[in-house]
Amino acid sequence: MKSDKKLIDDAGKRLDGRGPEELRKIKIEVGVLHRASGSCYLEWGGNKVMVAVYGPREAIPRHTQNLLRAIVNARYNMAAFSVEDRKRPGPDRRSKEISKVISEALEKVILTEQFPRASIDVNIEVLDAEAGTRCAGLTAAGVALADAGIPMKDIPVACSAGKIEGRVVLDLGKEEDNLGDADLPIAISPRTNEILLLQMDGHLTLEEFNKALDFAIKGCNAVSEIQKKAILDKYQSVEVVE
Ligand code: ADP
Repeated sequence: MKSDKKLIDDAGKRLDGRGPEELRKIKIEVGVLHRASGSCYLEWGGNKVMVAVYGPREAIPRHTQNLLRAIVNARYNMAAFSVEDRKRPGPDRRSKEISKVISEALEKVILTEQFPRASIDVNIEVLDAEAGTRCAGLTAAGVALADAGIPMKDIPVACSAGKIEGRVVLDLGKEEDNLGDADLPIAISPRTNEILLLQMDGHLTLEEFNKALDFAIKGCNAVSEIQKKAILDKYQSVEVVE
């Protein structure tokens, strides 16, 4: 969709005042839900996401069990009140697709072979949506899994880059997502240098794609530091009772 609205000025300043390589503000809280095995509340720009992890626990029904490893069920859900026009509650094609790609990304970092027959359930609830919710959800899921003490190769992290008015930028905001030319969300495992998820909508030249990928990887690494700090803040402040 095209519009006359300028998303980026000649100096590279965006609608919300950010530069091309600047992330929106991110806030992460760890262990906010008492009944979950692990949890995380994350704000990323206008996105608000809550993630609760349950397990590893015996997978039910039993026919879903894998004798060699745990299965990972991520369930991405957008609250009816999370978008401007009320969203019809319940799963739709988009949320099923996002749940599937996030489950597969998380499966690649969790040491699932340590928990045969088990399931690890990751509930991602989007409370406020402002573009980039799959990245926000996956990033929060990584923290919640760490909070649950689930062994992983690394804490997965996600971030997107895109193109607005012919320029490659990091972390699209809502209007940029609506009116922009392309969006490239990725998830990585920073320590093992693996790409866990890569999707793209819109159109990029090969050169733009490489630049957007580079921006998104740098973005992931910056968000990874915020994840680690949030986890350290929580666990360093816990008193050890002898
Ligand atoms: P992501 O949130 O990962 O960027 P999309 O690109 O599909 O995923 O969606 C972009 C944004 O569009 C969402 O963050 C949300 O703000 C908005 N959006 C998505 N689905 C709906 C919907 N059913 N109704 C209204 N807005 C929606």
